[in-house]
Amino acid sequence: MNEIKLFAPGTIANLSCGFDVLGLCLDNVGDEMIIRKSKQKGVRITKIVGANLPLETEKNVAGAAALALLENSETDLGFEIEIYKKIKAGSGIGSSAASAAGAVFGINELLGRPFSNKELVYFAMQGEKLASGSTHADNVAPALLGGFALVRSYNPLDIIKIKSPDHLFASVIHPQIELKTSDARSILKKNISLKSAIVQWGNVGGLIAGLYTNDYELIGRSLHDEIIEPARSILIPAFDLVKKSALKSGALGVGISGSGPSIFALSKGEDTTQKVAKIMCEEYDKIDLPYEIHVSKINDEGIKVLNSKS
Ligand code: ADP
Repeated sequence: MNEIKLFAPGTIANLSCGFDVLGLCLDNVGDEMIIRKSKQKGVRITKIVGANLPLETEKNVAGAAALALLENSETDLGFEIEIYKKIKAGSGIGSSAASAAGAVFGINELLGRPFSNKELVYFAMQGEKLASGSTHADNVAPALLGGFALVRSYNPLDIIKIKSPDHLFASVIHPQIELKTSDARSILKKNISLKSAIVQWGNVGGLIAGLYTNDYELIGRSLHDEIIEPARSILIPAFDLVKKSALKSGALGVGISGSGPSIFALSKGEDTTQKVAKIMCEEYDKIDLPYEIHVSKINDEGIKVLNSKS
């Protein structure tokens, strides 16, 4: 195989209670990438369509992640990467993660799969470090593995993939303001109280139990964020109103997608999800704020190969 075309999915990280340790993979929201072998060693980003992002390998998360993989490989080959951006950078839907995950997945396929998808998470994280200054895995892990991903431990890296309950869908609204992950991180306090920690880990456990047992009510009860949301939600226009209306329309739970500004809701069944999405849009229509809305089932596969050439 000389060339591969991929769908690199968007992701929702944190999922309310799981700051830096939980994320899910979206199905119809994502970028496309073409990766091809080249005789010239190293990694070159040859084309970016749909966004104004750096072409320099070291400054683009796709390039940084690809270089991390190649440092651990013995290949003499080089690679060219084309990125067709659909997820806006700074949206909170894992734009940088899609590129990082897509790059390492594609190169691994072209090399004949020397690494497992779980091993690829480590390389993709090196791309995320460039975007946000921290090597977090809660977007790249679900992008590479599909479904839900839990980062049980960062050191050593221990990632658990959890299949999504069949009827779980996400609505994600992206108000058209840019919020940099690095800025959204800088407002967080470094220490939390034991009381808050108890509430938070109770909910993380509840969410995982709900996912394994297909208990939608338990999933909904557990989508609560005691620590990050109270601090960050002030950066997101009309967050409380959008959340209240979405819950009233039947959403199981609502929270900040990644570091924002996107807001996500999880719902049972596509009809309820569409209804929830509509009400979220109405809240932003009321204040004349432009937005993008996405409705997606949970993608259990992760990155998808669209075609390949030999
Ligand atoms: P998101 O949460 O949507 O990924 P971030 O703020 O974490 O947004 O990351 C976006 C940052 O990463 C921007 O500063 C952007 O310029 C940088 N970046 C570098 N390469 C890419 C890429 N291929 N895709 C998206 N963002 C990239």
